[in-house]
Amino acid sequence: MKHILSVSKIEKYYGNKGNIAKAIDNISFKVNKGEFVGIMGPSGSGKTTLLNCISTIDTVTTGHIIINNRDITDLKPKKLEEFRRDELGFIFQDFNLLDTLTGFENIALALTIQNRNPKEIEVLIKSVAEILEISDVLTKYPYQMSGGQKQRVASARAIVTKPSLILADEPTGSLDSKSSRLLLESFEKLNKEQESTILMVTHDAFTASYAQRILVIKDGKIFNELIRGNSSRKEFFNKIIEVEGLLGGDISNDF
Ligand code: ADP
Ligand code: MG
Repeated sequence: MKHILSVSKIEKYYGNKGNIAKAIDNISFKVNKGEFVGIMGPSGSGKTTLLNCISTIDTVTTGHIIINNRDITDLKPKKLEEFRRDELGFIFQDFNLLDTLTGFENIALALTIQNRNPKEIEVLIKSVAEILEISDVLTKYPYQMSGGQKQRVASARAIVTKPSLILADEPTGSLDSKSSRLLLESFEKLNKEQESTILMVTHDAFTASYAQRILVIKDGKIFNELIRGNSSRKEFFNKIIEVEGLLGGDISNDF
């Protein structure tokens, strides 16, 4: 099976001599094309650092991160920028939509910077809007949308360029439970219908239960790996809760 992401023996230190903190302590894992993987762990365990290193926002101290056959730990800033634009899609907790643009224009932005032509842009946006069920908010401005609609517009913007890897940091963190459910169902749909590869950080067991596999991080290391397999989402949810118990139940206190 083809690996989209290969994280190999990475370490990340913060600080300087005499005052060094190890945020990531020798983490290795691979993600296959079309997988939906969750990352969970208590506050301070290194989840954001890990996601930032994979998303090229931060750099590792040692080790390698290979995305779609490119070692991003070797890329120069100019190449990194191109790489981010063409290969990665980002979904943040607070949506990051531009208030002065409509839903359509917000999504189109990702394509305009790739110099796609207007006709192509329209076709691509219509098709993702249908999957995410946001066709009726494309002409609206963010202030006219619900939180859930905003997050689905932001997700459309992240996936419309068909990135190799979608990175989501607490995507349901600002949503109520109904909107969370809708968003996660659309992630499942994207994952199945477009073979999107998704890596999602979350502290929430319900959100995590939509993933096919979960890496549990503790003290900068992989503490456990949970695989959903053929079990139902509910069964997987129960398994996640059990592991949370082993961690002392502190996964949910991540704010
Ligand atoms: P999580 O997202 O799981 O809560 P983080 O990745 O934010 O964890 O943090 C992991 C560890 O690295 C923590 O001990 C945190 O204090 C430390 N850390 C994170 N970012 C920095 C930074 N910019 N400078 C110094 N220490 C940091
Ligand atoms: Mg964090």
